[in-house]
Amino acid sequence: MKNMKIKSVMFTETELNEIVNQVSDRINQDYKDEDSVTIVCVLTGAVIFASDLIRRLSIPNVKLNFIRTSSYGKSDVSSGNVKVFELGNLEITDNNIIVVEDIIDTGNTIKKLAEIFSSQNPKSLKFCTMFDKPSRRTVDFDVDYVGVEIPDEFIVGYGLDYGEIYRQLPYVAVLCEDN
Ligand code: 5GP
Ligand code: MG
Repeated sequence: MKNMKIKSVMFTETELNEIVNQVSDRINQDYKDEDSVTIVCVLTGAVIFASDLIRRLSIPNVKLNFIRTSSYGKSDVSSGNVKVFELGNLEITDNNIIVVEDIIDTGNTIKKLAEIFSSQNPKSLKFCTMFDKPSRRTVDFDVDYVGVEIPDEFIVGYGLDYGEIYRQLPYVAVLCEDN
């Protein structure tokens, strides 16, 4: 792992807050006639976004579940071979499911999750991500809720890591090599 340092801030804490408000407003509008929703948070990166998001939801019954995904091969490249681990009692069938991701890059992870969950007959299934890098997409996938689109840069903070560090930053930053 290369030594890296923060090069610049891409989104301040205030800007991130505003993005989460916009996403939650849209979800609240779309689910205004629903009584319950299950948020499936994809660990670890989405944990901060999911925590902020659920506290803004006005749907009466919000359940929170966690899953972990991993892709084979090099750690920095999505191989397309995604494994999913469920944590706790995740009930998909007949429930309104919103999968919450930190960032969508190639789209491999989310596409695999869509295949797995749709085969379990949810009442509805939607996908939500805080960040999206559409220029990196290698599979065709329509994401229902996107916080903000970003250029092809590696970002950290607000749950996103580089080698398990930087997740705790309240802002989002771009790294550069520390020479
Ligand atoms: P994909 O959409 O390619 O299957 O994979 C998305 C995953 O790649 C994300 O959940 C995240 O773990 C990782 N990832 C993609 N882009 C970035 C980035 O800019 N920063 C960080 N920290 N992780 C990223
Ligand atoms: Mg992830």
